[in-house]
Amino acid sequence: MSYQIIDNALGGVGHTPLIRLDKIARENDLKCNLLGKVEFLSTGGSVKDRIAKAMIEAAEKEGKLIPGKSVVIEPTSGNTGIGLAMACAIKGYSVIITMPNKMSLEKEALLRALGAEVVRTPTEAAWDSPESHIGVAQRLQREIPKGIILDQYRNVNNPLAHEYTTGPEIIEAVISTPSTPDRISSMKVDAIVAGAGTGGTITGLSRAIKKAHNPNCIVIGVDPKGSILAVPENLNRSDNGGQYIVEGIGYDFVPDVLNRNDVDTWLKTDDDESFAAVQKLMRNEGLLVGGSSGSALSGALRWLKSDQGRKIANTPGQNIVVILPDGIRNYMSKPWFLKLAMEEGSPLAGTIAQILQKPE
Ligand code: PMP
Repeated sequence: MSYQIIDNALGGVGHTPLIRLDKIARENDLKCNLLGKVEFLSTGGSVKDRIAKAMIEAAEKEGKLIPGKSVVIEPTSGNTGIGLAMACAIKGYSVIITMPNKMSLEKEALLRALGAEVVRTPTEAAWDSPESHIGVAQRLQREIPKGIILDQYRNVNNPLAHEYTTGPEIIEAVISTPSTPDRISSMKVDAIVAGAGTGGTITGLSRAIKKAHNPNCIVIGVDPKGSILAVPENLNRSDNGGQYIVEGIGYDFVPDVLNRNDVDTWLKTDDDESFAAVQKLMRNEGLLVGGSSGSALSGALRWLKSDQGRKIANTPGQNIVVILPDGIRNYMSKPWFLKLAMEEGSPLAGTIAQILQKPE
């Protein structure tokens, strides 16, 4: 890696590390290499910085943005908004973010800190209703002069950002790490696991890896129970009325940028397993990730135990990559985080209490 002065925060987008999740692998009796792509280390704190940067730069090239005049309006679960607000703070565009109520206060605070306006919308509003985050963004755009929606649900630069950056970074890390007797590697990405919100990440990754690197790579999509993105459709039956706590993945419609033909197999995950996996990533691997990272890991582990995944799980040197999309900074006030953070982690708590109760 070469170290040079970076022009602005956008230069720190992406270039994230691929980190071994060895302890979790060992605990699950995996012989393969379990690898996490740690996206909270991007400057805006998530995998979505990449598409924000790409969509803004493409719109600039097309002459669609005027500094001091344009108002970038975007419906998002928050992270695309944070990336856009960061880019627009640097470049001098105003920003309005529309975001469902369920998304964390931390995301709203970060957006406002970056100078964006934030409009909250009812979580239960159907995507095509005028009250949804998408409907409200469209209404604002109709009324606000020089308002523009870059539209992550349809913008080709969303999957392309992952095809051109996230995917190639993963491939480069895998092919640049030698196979040694201690750390055997197939030198290929053999399987990859990612959650889907817009679906840009999984679609772009699949294209990058299957086209340019390993056509046999198995691409595994993770979709929360209550969402309808998984295939076959019968997987999407759920009894939670479409409600789940994990943010950033799952939808009540299939976005244009999600090409489900690029995904080989889908798994449904629930909140409890996702949060348990977040705790594992923190306490076993020291990684301060957000909820959807837990969904991706729990999906990966379940797949590796399935008939389809067992061969990879049991083969030394096979590489399975799990996308960890954002960090816990976005969720510090959420009850699910406080619960898993405060849960006693070691028998030391009892020892400390005993010591402190004794007279000195
Ligand atoms: N996790 C989090 C925390 C996200 O914000 C997003 C983006 N909605 C995703 C996962 C899924 O990414 P994508 O939109 O590319 O499917």
